[in-house]
This record gives sequence, C-alpha cells and structure tokens, in this order.
Amino acid sequence: MVDETTPDDDEDWMQYANSGFGSTDYSLWDEVEEQPEENTQFDEPEQLDSHTEEISRAPSPAGLKHLLRMGTCDSCLGRLGGKKSFQQTAEESGQLIRSTISEGNERLMNIRQEIPLCPFCENLFEEASLLAELIQDALEHYDINKLQIGARIPKDQIEQEELIRKRYGAGGSDPFKPSLVSAVSSIVKSNLESIDIVNDKPDVLALIDVLTLTVTLDIRSAYIYGRYRKLARGIPQTRWPCRACKGRGCQRCEQTGQQYPSSVQDLIGEPLMKFFDGKEHAFHGMGREDIDVRCLGSDRPFVFEIKEPKRWSIDYEEAMNIVNQEANGAIEVSHFRVSNRSEVVRVKDTPAEKSYTIRFLVEPISQPEYDVLVAPLDMTKEDVQQRGGRGRRKQRHRGDKKDNPKKPLQKIELEILEESELKKLKKDELVVLCEERSCLSKGTKAVLIEQLLETNPGPVEMLPLPDEAAVLDIIEKLEGVNLAQRTPERVAHRRADLVRRRRVIETNNPSVETLDNGNLAVEFTLRCESGTYVKETVHGDDGRTQPSMASLIKAKCTVEWLDVGDIHAD
Ligand SMILES: [Zn+2]
Ligand SMILES: [Zn+2]
Repeated sequence: MVDETTPDDDEDWMQYANSGFGSTDYSLWDEVEEQPEENTQFDEPEQLDSHTEEISRAPSPAGLKHLLRMGTCDSCLGRLGGKKSFQQTAEESGQLIRSTISEGNERLMNIRQEIPLCPFCENLFEEASLLAELIQDALEHYDINKLQIGARIPKDQIEQEELIRKRYGAGGSDPFKPSLVSAVSSIVKSNLESIDIVNDKPDVLALIDVLTLTVTLDIRSAYIYGRYRKLARGIPQTRWPCRACKGRGCQRCEQTGQQYPSSVQDLIGEPLMKFFDGKEHAFHGMGREDIDVRCLGSDRPFVFEIKEPKRWSIDYEEAMNIVNQEANGAIEVSHFRVSNRSEVVRVKDTPAEKSYTIRFLVEPISQPEYDVLVAPLDMTKEDVQQRGGRGRRKQRHRGDKKDNPKKPLQKIELEILEESELKKLKKDELVVLCEERSCLSKGTKAVLIEQLLETNPGPVEMLPLPDEAAVLDIIEKLEGVNLAQRTPERVAHRRADLVRRRRVIETNNPSVETLDNGNLAVEFTLRCESGTYVKETVHGDDGRTQPSMASLIKAKCTVEWLDVGDIHAD
C-alpha cells in the first residue's frame, strides 16, 4: 500500500517522454570545439595541444576556459568549475570564474551572446526563479509545513549532461538534477520561510516538468492517530455502502448511499474534515468489532487519513473535543496526535489480543443437538443425516458435503404437524405433504393424516442441565484452551472457509445465575488471541468451533450480548 513517489523516479516518465528532446545535436558545441585551432585571440598559452591531446578538465585554467568557450552558464560554471567555496552560490562562483578567466578577452567575456544555450543545463538554471514562483503560486491555498521539490528531466538530457560533465567538469561536480532542484528549493525557501524543504515524507511534493516549465502538486494525506471507545451498539466501524444501491443513493437509504445512518469512521471523519478541509477520508483500525458489539475498556487504536487536505497540522485537543461533542455519547475518542502513513501499516498489522465480556443463556440440549456440536470438524465424507433416524423433536442435518466440502453446513428442521391443522387441508394437499415427508400417500384423508402424524419427531430426551458450579469450573478450564474454528457461516461470504487455531488466553469474572425457569444466565470475561470468533466460542456454531462453552457444559448456549473490553496492544 506504500506507493511513495520519489522525485528521482523518472524511469516511467522516460517511457513517454519525447524521445527527440535532449538528443540535441550540439552543433554550437562542435563549432566551439573547432575554435581553439584558428583563434589566436586567446592569449593564454594552451597547456595541451588540442590537435592531438585531450582537452583539459576544470579546475585547471585551460579546462575552465574551455567551459567558457562551450557557452556554459554561470550556474553550471560554478557547479562544474571546482572552485566554489562554501558560502558561495554556484552562480556567484561561476561569475567569478568567468571574470577571472576571460579577463582582457572581450570575445570570451561575451561568449554567451555568441553561444546562448548552455550545453549542460539548456539554460534551465536561468529559469529557477520562474520555477520557484510557479511552485509558490500553486501552494497559495495550502497551509503546508513540509515541501519536497522534484524534477522530471528527460533521460537523454540527463545522460548527455553526465557525459560532458565527466569529460569537462571538475571531478566530483554535482549532477544536474539535484543541483537544479536545490537551486529552485533555496529560492522557494527564502520566499516562504515557514516551510521546511524535505527529502522525505512531505505534505506536498511539487514536481517540476522541465519540458513544459510547469509544476504539478502531489498532495499527500494528513494522518491522525487516536483511540476510540464505542459506547452504543448498532454502529459499524467503517462506512458501509447501501446494499440496495451500492452507495449511489436510493429510497431505502434515504439517498445517503449508506447502509447505516452512522459509523465510527463518519463520527470521527466529519468533524475532522472541517479541520483539515480535506476531500475524503479513510479509517484504519487495529482490528474491528461487529456492528452490535460495543468497544469499551482501553480503547481501540486507529489511524485516520484525510485525503487531499488543505492543512496538515491542527489543534488536536480541540478536534478531539469536537468529535466527542458531536458524537453525542455514541463514541468517545482520545490520544489524538499527528501520525503518518507507516503507522497505518503498524496499526493494521498489529495482532491484538482482546478482552471480551459476554453474556449468554444456558438451556438443556438434546443428544442429537449435542452430537452436532462435537461431530469431527473435518468430516467431509460422512453424512450426519444418517445418524439418529427417527425419534427426534428436531432433526439437524448437515448439508450434503460429499460433492462439495466447501458448501456451508445446513440446518434442516422438521416441523411438528398438528392434527387439527392437518384436518383443515384438502386431500391433494395432504398427498403433497406425504410426498415431502416420504410416507405413503395412498388411502383416505384419515389414513393420510395418521401417516403424517407418525412422521412427527417424537419426544426427545434432554441432557441434564449443568449446575452453577459445573459451569464455573468449565469457564476456568477454558483458559489456555486451543480452539479449532471453522469460518462461521455469518462471515463465509467474505472469508475463506478454513479451520483456524485460536487460543483462549484467560477467563475472568465469571458469574452464573439461575433463572425462574430453571435455565442459567452466565457472564464472564475472556481474553483471546487476535482473530478469535468469540460468540462462536460460546455457542459452538453447530460444531464449527470446537471445543466450545456449549460442547463443554453439554448445554445449549445462546449469546445475549458481547462487549469488547481491553485491546492488549499499543
Ligand atoms: Zn547551465
Ligand atoms: Zn441505497
């Protein structure tokens, strides 16, 4: 997800750059090369005979003179001359070299009128002020702290400059592109003092295109770290597009395009957008909780991203207060501070153990229902439908998994038929029903009704309900247990169907109460590895989670509610 565009990365750009540019045939240059032989006006003795020997490089006087003759501009002369002192700009150094070397030689003094195009920079250094001005104009509406400047220069031009720089320039001379960027940067910096010019992680990257002499801005997102507590149920963590219209807006969602009227993301994002004046926002949470689950305790960390903001630093305290005010008790945020893109990765990738408080009801379970809870998890061959046969109040069948082990398990519950209801039906309706329930469909209405009633599951023996002490004991023993969790059906549409191993790290604060009807209500806190399906750990998910509270206490467990407590990270 990191796609930091570095200004030096012009490989791609090269592919669509005008290939003709930069391959300039330096005819002027050739002309200059020939000058020394015929030109007797140059009064300094040549150190080397240019007919036979290589031309001297700067910083030797002959080398400097040659740079002059080539039509080199002041900035490039200073950059390549090898004479620049620390306090000087390249341009200042170049001016000094020019006046020293060309002293008394009028032609050399005015050589740039004769050869007006600098072969090293194609006169781009002379455009540095213009480029700086373009950047400043583009930044007018942004309140920025950190600016990075980059340049797009055709590859041919870079290569050509490098070739002649190595041939005529002093050893170790600065390359063209960084020198140009630095020349523009220092002008921008002196005009906009509050801005820091950086080489990494800017608020804005201003990219100079030397072909068109234009500037484009790459506006980077602003990031805020924070933590939230979700105090109300029914709020999803992130925006959730309306299922009916996929976010376009319809009657069902009252034109909002959202499935739910609010989300943690919007509750934080809408006030923040006013602070940053951004275009869009994104929410990166350390894990998530279900829509009906509250998130209490030590808060869930997140990084909030504001895309295309107009400013990058705000009063975090004030923003936090406004978010909390406007959320009206639905959520509560804290720990706001500046963040960055790499923290998004950290927050998203931190596997966080979490504590949950869960409340569930305990009712008796029948033997066949219990069998489902403990049926071998990877059993794809055996069809559990064959088990038990008649004599059950409710039959639970596993789906036919012979051909498709990925097919979700199905529950088929046989309805209990009432004699009085059957008597109201017409004979042909009874015949259809007989066929459905695979019993003989011949005979009088009375015979059919009798046969149908026989297909009713008979009374089934329920397993004894565990007592309070047994439940408390099992909760204690759940600590340290490794669970095998097959992807629950409720999330199967967005997660691969796999069996995962997850550990219950600890269990705490159990309480059991016996209700008037003899059933139990149980509450306890458990801390699990990141990625544990907690409700499933309690009810067993028809045997997809093993072991489970339900399979261990041999009773039916129905979850009443679940809260996320502490998140053990950050
Ligand atoms: Zn130049
Ligand atoms: Zn809609």
